[in-house]
Amino acid sequence: MKKAIYPGSFDPVTNGHMDMIYRASKIVDELVVGVLNNSAKNSLFSVEERVSMLEEMTCGIENVTVSSFDGLMVDYMDEIGATIVVRGLRAVTDFEYELQIAQTNHKVNPRIDTIFLTTSLEYSYLSSTIVKEFASYGGDISNFVPERFIHDIYAKYNINK
Ligand code: ADP
Repeated sequence: MKKAIYPGSFDPVTNGHMDMIYRASKIVDELVVGVLNNSAKNSLFSVEERVSMLEEMTCGIENVTVSSFDGLMVDYMDEIGATIVVRGLRAVTDFEYELQIAQTNHKVNPRIDTIFLTTSLEYSYLSSTIVKEFASYGGDISNFVPERFIHDIYAKYNINK
């Protein structure tokens, strides 16, 4: 049984994240989307809101579940019995950081391996940070995030769209 975690902030979930989830769910037996509950990081959406958004988006995918975690990911993986980490590589800039985390995690727990999926071309530019930046100025985010959440994102900036 190949159980994997796809960790991230998902603040908010983007079409790029969803593309990764669909693709990863076809590779592993079980995929847990792990929402990082990082209190030091100022997030736009609460961890509960982020989990709920992802649950809504993944309810149709049989082998995908969503949960939040804090502390060390390797400890959380032990807890849930996952040995694979799924991460996305958008550009060369992602690589160095991702390589460091993957190697550190493997060193800490040699049973853990990381698999990288390269971004689908149409989402290679997309990040939650860009979405927030755009939305905060009332820019059009309809191509970036699931339609269902567009209004909620603008609402966080008191923009009525
Ligand atoms: P972001 O960088 O958008 O704030 P997260 O911190 O939530 O995203 O990232 C979670 C994971 O999703 C990371 O592995 C990241 O590389 C991947 N990811 C983020 N955006 C995309 C995208 N557009 N296409 C593919 N993978 C992505």
